[in-house]
Amino acid sequence: MTAIYGVLGWPVAHSRSPAMHNAAFAALGLDALYVPLAVPPARLPAAIAALRTLDVAGANATLPHKSALIALLDQVEPAALAIGAVNTIVRDGARLLGANTDAEGLARSLQYAGVGLAGMRALVLGTGGAARAAVVGLAGAGVERIAIAGRRRDQAQQLALELGAHCAPCALDACDLAALPPALLAACDLLVQATSATLGDGADAQAFAASIALAELPAHAVVCDLVYKPLHTALMRAASARGLRTVDGLGMLLHQGALAFERWTGQPAPLEIMRRAL
Ligand code: NDP
Repeated sequence: MTAIYGVLGWPVAHSRSPAMHNAAFAALGLDALYVPLAVPPARLPAAIAALRTLDVAGANATLPHKSALIALLDQVEPAALAIGAVNTIVRDGARLLGANTDAEGLARSLQYAGVGLAGMRALVLGTGGAARAAVVGLAGAGVERIAIAGRRRDQAQQLALELGAHCAPCALDACDLAALPPALLAACDLLVQATSATLGDGADAQAFAASIALAELPAHAVVCDLVYKPLHTALMRAASARGLRTVDGLGMLLHQGALAFERWTGQPAPLEIMRRAL
């Protein structure tokens, strides 16, 4: 019988996950199908009940369901609880388990790009869901110190407080995005842009990129923007012009999907085929 997988979202038509996973299933000759599942927020509990009834083999979740899912599953992994978001549902017999592959997906994306994370000092811009996943993912991969920069400093401080215990021994600090200390930038090996400010590449995105003092970063620093529309954001273009290495956000999307695929099928994900499908 064909195994059914899907992505729960609202809206969900834009999602690239069906193309990516169906290409992977076809490449490995698996009898499986991955479909978009358009679920309004009020119907999420009924949708989870339907996954159980229909024996759906596994699922992903995207906006706006990642947080609400936590209360609806049988068990949620510690990293997903710390991040406050589930992006992958794994079936274990009759039980539905919640995981978050965004965090490890970012770490893998950087590692595949040749960035050795152990012992690094990182700066994460933003305090939303992507920033939370980035902090947990980088800490889990051995980053030594992470500064979280928010346009509201109290939010960055709150995040550092909330994630501190989960991320130990990695040390978390908070700072003001509008006043990044030059000494912090000078000691930064990796800058992760996790706000939505570079989305769309309009005048605001250009102004945001220009406001980050990339000239203060050391020459070996890597700049990764989690936004992948456009693929080469204004911040990445500015970093390249300064001679810094950049990593795009599509890698995180690919690797979070690959990690989910591996959890569901127990098989290594065909990365190149999935990348091409994206
Ligand atoms: P959220 O809406 O949860 O958070 C957005 C964050 O961006 C908030 O901290 C917000 O600050 C900040 N922000 C927005 N505009 C500005 C600005 N002009 N200046 C400074 N800060 C700003 O979104 P997510 O965290 O879920 O996602 C952020 C981006 O990351 C998305 O645009 C998405 O494209 C990308 N992403 C990529 C993924 C990947 O796989 N590559 C996965 C998930 C997300 P405030 O709270 O003050 O409003």
